[in-house]
Amino acid sequence: MGAGALTAGLVRTGAMAAETASPQNSITPDEALKKLMEGNKRFVGGETIMPNRSMARVRELAKGQKPFAAFLSCADSRVPVEILFDQGFGDVFVCRVAGNTATAEETGSLEFGAAVLGAKVLMVLGHEYCGAVKATLAGKEVPGSIQAVLDPIKPAVAMLKDKKAKGALDEAIANNVKLQVAKLKESPLLSSLIKEDKLKIVGAVYDLDEGKVTLLT
Ligand SMILES: [Zn+2]
Repeated sequence: MGAGALTAGLVRTGAMAAETASPQNSITPDEALKKLMEGNKRFVGGETIMPNRSMARVRELAKGQKPFAAFLSCADSRVPVEILFDQGFGDVFVCRVAGNTATAEETGSLEFGAAVLGAKVLMVLGHEYCGAVKATLAGKEVPGSIQAVLDPIKPAVAMLKDKKAKGALDEAIANNVKLQVAKLKESPLLSSLIKEDKLKIVGAVYDLDEGKVTLLT
């Protein structure tokens, strides 16, 4: 082995040691959000780096996870969070339920992701053409237990001035995201993390045609 290869090996070992000493979620909430948005930018631009998807990463994570972000997203097959934010194993803690609503179970899971695992940003991610919001807007009878999924979306639909208006679905989707963000902020555990600058909760909508995630203010 040449000196160059040996040095490269030592540098790699050093980098790995540094990674262990400073977990990937030892960053600020703003840095975590920036990391997500940069990942989505790579995805939209066709410049994905597909990080953290090696078997070495899988084995390393078996010892424990330190995701830097958490999500409340829809179950929709067109919204795979890791892919559209260009992340890999152990990066994002994701709760998915049709209509991305903060039910007790979802809130509890997200409290675990933030308070125990240390995720620094929690994103409620709605998406264009959401079937759950669409069905709530339509208000027709649905089979099985589906109504239980639609009930928490009703307040977002009730906020609409005109349910038949063009753009009513998009508006209901955005309303729903904002309401779920507000609901998560009611969690004493999550709000104490926000006060300590250890967490940020944001709302966003995913554009199915363009692949772009836009933050809601
Ligand atoms: Zn959906």
